[in-house]
Amino acid sequence: MNLPFAESWKIKMIEQIHKSTREEREQWMKEAHYNVFQLKAEQVYIDLLTDSGTGAMSDRQWAGIMTGDESYAGASSFFKFKETVQRLTGFEYIIPTHQGRAAENVLFSYLVHEGDIVPGNSHFDTTKGHIEGRKAIALDCTVDEAKDTQLEIPFKGNVDPVKLEKALAEHADKIPFIIITITNNTAGGQPVSMENLKQIRAIADKYGKPVLFDSARFAENAYFIKTREKGYADKTIKEITLEMFALADGMTMSAKKDGLVNMGGFIATRLKDWYEGAKGYCIQFEGYLTYGGMNGRDLNALAIGLDENTEFDNLETRIHQVQLLAKLLDEYGVPYQRPAGGHAIFVDARKLLSHVPKEEFPAQTLTIELYLEAGIRGCEIGYILADRDPITHENRFGGLDLCRLAIPRRVYTDNHIAVIAAALKNVYERREQITRGVKILWEAPLMRHFTVQLARL
Ligand SMILES: *Cc1c(COP(=O)(O)O)cnc(C)c1O
Repeated sequence: MNLPFAESWKIKMIEQIHKSTREEREQWMKEAHYNVFQLKAEQVYIDLLTDSGTGAMSDRQWAGIMTGDESYAGASSFFKFKETVQRLTGFEYIIPTHQGRAAENVLFSYLVHEGDIVPGNSHFDTTKGHIEGRKAIALDCTVDEAKDTQLEIPFKGNVDPVKLEKALAEHADKIPFIIITITNNTAGGQPVSMENLKQIRAIADKYGKPVLFDSARFAENAYFIKTREKGYADKTIKEITLEMFALADGMTMSAKKDGLVNMGGFIATRLKDWYEGAKGYCIQFEGYLTYGGMNGRDLNALAIGLDENTEFDNLETRIHQVQLLAKLLDEYGVPYQRPAGGHAIFVDARKLLSHVPKEEFPAQTLTIELYLEAGIRGCEIGYILADRDPITHENRFGGLDLCRLAIPRRVYTDNHIAVIAAALKNVYERREQITRGVKILWEAPLMRHFTVQLARL
């Protein structure tokens, strides 16, 4: 008999989580104005709000915490961190920052100016924010296949080379760099192939433009290249990440994802002018160059986390769990964005709650129902998040309406995954009875999803 799959780690420390009754949850959800961001974490049984900064550190990382060097300048923790990033990416210049958006803020302060165009594959919200906030344009050149939630192709996060080349041919003088997000978070954690990275590099070289990787989930991207792309099955994750980064000029990193830490980020680059240009902004916004908004102990934990998460076994354990959830949902007939990405399952609320009109926010309704069902907190990535058109002030119902179930790294067991799938199955089975959604009572003018107050209809 073949041995079944099992985690590549064992558990040394546990944290109690709490079940609740449906009545308690009804009350808490009401007090939270039907917005899961307003719940207290202790009111949640299984928390799938995000995989950002919610992972569990290893015993080695915690040991690193104890030996952090908290010197203001030249701390040994910085040099350990720098050596690790250089070894894993091949980039020479490294600037630590307190998280990913801070890395964007520091680097884009140097690179992005009013009137610029930054093409890429589905820019992440903060990335887009840091581009648009500088009165520049984030131009989405993702492949069209990414929009079809039921299409199963291996690299749905790719940049469309035709769209990119068109942008360069028309606006080369306005384009400071090309950005590639690995994995493509906004498209559902979908990976970008090595072949596509090479194509984009060739186009960039033709027009003399640098390439930046938004690298929050670079290790998961490498896992998909190893398991899905021809010619990579026998390469290690560390060999693949080096090959990926050889195709870029620099990276911004949210270490809260594939860095396996609760807070942290950095910029890494081979371009001396990017480093020299960004340096001053690091000191202005983050801190001195050898800590950049991070504690010495956290730099130690990050260095170790990066090393651990570029090992195949660790990634396989994680992505197996996402794929297990997908498999169970397939069994139960629950529709989600296919194929399952690296960090989350995105349930298609328009398909699941087809009786709830779009004006009543189906994905938010599903998020509420899942919480009421079992105390599971997902996150609406849909019409509430899409906000209103800045000119007409109408709700934007054009895109997808999804409930995201993000899986934290090394936190829950496969038993928890089975609970999540069963809870969704229960909601799915009573979908015919769910005919009304929610209405907005109060909303902020910007980023309304964090604070919106809703009422059930
Ligand atoms: C999370 C994330 C960011 C922003 O990083 P923070 O650490 O949350 O500031 C940027 N890009 C991508 C792709 C991300 O997933």
